Amino acid sequence: MAIQQKLSLMIPGPTPVPEKVLEALGRHPIGHRSKDFQDLVEITTKNLQWLHQTENDVLTITGSGTAAMEAGIISTLNRGDKVICGENGKFGQRWVKVAKEFGLEVITINAEWGKPLNPEDFKTVLEKDINKEIKAVILTHSETSTGVINDLKTISSYIRNHNKALSIIDCVTSIGACNVPVDEWGLDIVASGSQKGYMIPPGLSFVSMSKKAWQASENSNLPKFYLNLKSYRKSLSSNSNPYTPAVNLVFALDESLKMMKEEGLDKIFKRHERHKLAISEAATTLNLKLFADEKHLSPSVTAIQLEKMDAENFRKTIKIKYDILLAGGQDHLKGKIFRVGHLGYINDRDIISVITAIGNTLVEQNEISTEKLGEALSAASCHLKAI
Ligand SMILES: *Cc1c(COP(=O)(O)O)cnc(C)c1O
Repeated sequence: MAIQQKLSLMIPGPTPVPEKVLEALGRHPIGHRSKDFQDLVEITTKNLQWLHQTENDVLTITGSGTAAMEAGIISTLNRGDKVICGENGKFGQRWVKVAKEFGLEVITINAEWGKPLNPEDFKTVLEKDINKEIKAVILTHSETSTGVINDLKTISSYIRNHNKALSIIDCVTSIGACNVPVDEWGLDIVASGSQKGYMIPPGLSFVSMSKKAWQASENSNLPKFYLNLKSYRKSLSSNSNPYTPAVNLVFALDESLKMMKEEGLDKIFKRHERHKLAISEAATTLNLKLFADEKHLSPSVTAIQLEKMDAENFRKTIKIKYDILLAGGQDHLKGKIFRVGHLGYINDRDIISVITAIGNTLVEQNEISTEKLGEALSAASCHLKAI
């Protein structure tokens, strides 16, 4: 039976929050125009640049990840601009909606949900655009709804060859989980959110802006006020914010970025890789199918298919019995898949526990033998050992 406050979040956001970060949240707020707060903005901005592997400006917005993506779009583009949107899941679909809502002309490049976007499709459309009418390519790096990671490195190289189009990338479940070298890949606009790899509660989001993105912002005529990134850049030059930021979340951000620096990017990425391999291999050993293409598994979330059982009931059983919250499928995938989040503040114990919970539930439903669960745990352990 459930014990209060022992819930383990294994959904792709909000993710678990370390004690140190929770303590920072509980401090008395300070004035957002004070010198102390400005010092904090200076440090967190530098550390955000470290996390993004960039010298670009990285701006902090009070709002969720969607605010950061919307800000990137409306701060740089113009009414009627032609853009490409990559769509192979729920989040890709959201950016199509946002772009259309702002009157952009959208060319959609699709892939079946569960499959990655094909970089060559982007190449073809971009190469055909000799008059340079395409002003941006908008896409999701790690598609959280399906557990697929798109080949951003290759797609961004094609965007760069086009020369004109900006890349506007949803890296909400890839920043802090796998390598996203913003400068090396020449990414113009990169959006992320605090409740994912950052290990802090929801409420802050981040946008990295290249020089090219700032140039585009000079003429941008889409309607905007709160999310006009030019205001954020102006305030950031004096380590400040245009409006009252979520002060306590910035305390939390400061702590979590320090923790991330202590662990180091390479170790953070390897930890996510190990956990991804442990869960995906355990799932297949348990005779479950992965929803995503096996060569393109997201580092932060694994989508697992259930053929004979209702995935919502399965999730509910695990929540009640093991106090582990898993995510369900969205839209047509509801009841068909469940998703295990392994993003942010997750350790090997969490992985072993979730595999055990999934395996035991299958054993209890006579889907597999206990031996199978043993095999799955041993397959997972092999990956966890390989540090
Ligand atoms: C969580 C998430 C977002 C942001 O959603 P918000 O609810 O606005 O924070 C965007 N894209 C992806 C891929 C996500 O996983």
